[in-house]
Amino acid sequence: MKVFQFNGGRIGVTIDSQSYDLTEALKIDVQSWPPVQMVQFIAKVDQNMPAILTHPLTKKMDISSVRLDVPISWPNKLLAFPVNYLAHGVEMKSVNRADLNGFFLKANSSLSGPNDAIVLPDLPGREIHHECELGIVIGKGGRNISRENAYKHIFGYACLIDMVVRGKEERVMRKSYDTFCPFGPWITTSDEVPDPANLQTRLWVNDELRQDANTKDLIVDIPGMIELSSKVATLYPGDIIAAGTPAGVGPVSRGDRVRIQIEHVGEMTLLVQ
Ligand code: MN
Repeated sequence: MKVFQFNGGRIGVTIDSQSYDLTEALKIDVQSWPPVQMVQFIAKVDQNMPAILTHPLTKKMDISSVRLDVPISWPNKLLAFPVNYLAHGVEMKSVNRADLNGFFLKANSSLSGPNDAIVLPDLPGREIHHECELGIVIGKGGRNISRENAYKHIFGYACLIDMVVRGKEERVMRKSYDTFCPFGPWITTSDEVPDPANLQTRLWVNDELRQDANTKDLIVDIPGMIELSSKVATLYPGDIIAAGTPAGVGPVSRGDRVRIQIEHVGEMTLLVQ
């Protein structure tokens, strides 16, 4: 199943190539604030599905005719792992490594959707880089989740770009500008991802392939990230973990098109403004 938000807070799913608008059946008020409807949907998905598909207010829809929004607007948190592929550590001449340093946070408000531009702040002379990452979405929350149980806590996966201004200021600030976390275009649920530890992840700027790596080369693997982060903080449904970037990061400029593609998960192209 693919789960998405569209047209300003509506929720839909795609199952076997057919998409459904669940907004009315789920009694979602798209005007309500804060916009936590997707987090609530993820928290209750087991009790709602598949009955919601046969609800009289569920409508078939054409996903290609709507504007897809960021699939999760208001998670409890957005965790991110730093240098999590050895080759990226080498290229950055970094002493950081995910297995030594653990995670950091990005502002939740940096999340943006597949049809939103990446808006660069006006910082003359500074490099602003793309980082191509697998986004992991927590389904069942918990604390002190073991490696063995980790995959049971994952709702699904999405493409995620961890944008960053290179420099010496606090990392959280350099990575937290609005639109610095394109995420989407939908969440592909874990049952549709055959082996999350073997996903090719690619990123192009215009037509230049910049990043091309496989999640099998993660230093801290997916169960390891969940084990480590849940030792510190309770994970909640809808929390997002950015898995860390492989080698090939580089600068973007206004007018560029950034395309991210993750095998079995999805693909999206963002305009840089
Ligand atoms: Mn990153």
